[in-house]
Amino acid sequence: MKKYQLMAPGPTPVPSEVLLAMAQPIIHHRTPQYEALFVEVRAGLKKLFQTSAEVVPLACSGTGAMEAAVVNTLSAGDAVAVVRAGKFGDRWLEIARAYGLDIIDLTAPFGHTVDAARLADALKTHPEVKAVLTQHSETSTGVLHDVRAYAAVTRQHDAILIVDAVSSLGIADLPMDAWGVDLVVAGSQKGLMLPPGIGFCALNEKAWRKTKTSTLPKYYFNLTDELKFVAKNEVRFTPAVSIIVGLREALRLLEAEGLANVFKRHDRLARATRAGAEALGLELFAKHTPSPALTAIRPPTGVDSEKIVAAYSQSHNITIAGGQGEMKGKLFRLGHMGYAAEFDTIVALSALEQVLADLGQPVDFGSSVRAAQKIFVEKS
Ligand SMILES: *Cc1c(COP(=O)(O)O)cnc(C)c1O
Repeated sequence: MKKYQLMAPGPTPVPSEVLLAMAQPIIHHRTPQYEALFVEVRAGLKKLFQTSAEVVPLACSGTGAMEAAVVNTLSAGDAVAVVRAGKFGDRWLEIARAYGLDIIDLTAPFGHTVDAARLADALKTHPEVKAVLTQHSETSTGVLHDVRAYAAVTRQHDAILIVDAVSSLGIADLPMDAWGVDLVVAGSQKGLMLPPGIGFCALNEKAWRKTKTSTLPKYYFNLTDELKFVAKNEVRFTPAVSIIVGLREALRLLEAEGLANVFKRHDRLARATRAGAEALGLELFAKHTPSPALTAIRPPTGVDSEKIVAAYSQSHNITIAGGQGEMKGKLFRLGHMGYAAEFDTIVALSALEQVLADLGQPVDFGSSVRAAQKIFVEKS
């Protein structure tokens, strides 16, 4: 028997409290029980997003919520600035293209990030920009973009800042109201410790104002109509009922731990994973602030990273992830977001040592684990 362990940067493991809650018989969504459930979920989501704005859940993956953000705030021909340095940044570009938006493309090489000064220049040169689209945590490269600095820039313009926080909500601090992020997009299957199936959009007043003039086509993803139902603790269409039930449980777990502690835990797991990889002589892919959600690591010279991913799976029944697109073969990614704790990191690193040894690499056994443990025993 090989115990299965999901250590990919999404979807992530689901705690047993959440699994058991979701195993309850299904309830109908137009009942007082559902309303009571949603009242609690609605309040918990505001705390998690650190906003007084309403958070609108949608039955879709994270990308659906990204699309909803675009079609509700923009019109064909509108100019948008896409701040990107990875595959999820490319996704904003693809959505913007699909809807006929005029794109100002601000890119950095994968592993890096785009400096806020470049965004400031672009908005000065292009005052017609209606929205800035970016990621907080770029999951394909393991880099955290400086959303706080981007928000300080967009606050001085008419443009809204739309942030894909799918792999940072409940992982890295992103105080929506305090920083002035106008629209935050998230998903259920990363920091929220839930199965995939729910996307979220949270809009502040500046973003809601944009919805008034937006003419891009929308029906299922009409957030203005959704909001009317959310405000009454009702739902417009059949929601992902079981995942909403699980969400209440996940929000309770996050609340019990305390958001500040949740962020600290992710930071420690990330620092320990990086220290472990470096102790093995491996190079980290992130050349800028690394994301606390995952660690992207370059394979040893001459080794295809897909072999490392396959060995984790075949020899140890552990799912990790490789590189996407042009990064295929060049990096592997260890997720440590959501329901992840210190000894999951120890498992990931000790398995890495065995995987590398199996691939014929010289390994000083225990060196990565030792480096991680040193971080775990530090007083925080
Ligand atoms: C996982 C992820 C998404 C959403 O992907 P879906 O497969 O549509 O849920 C979007 N952005 C980032 C940064 C992600 O990590």
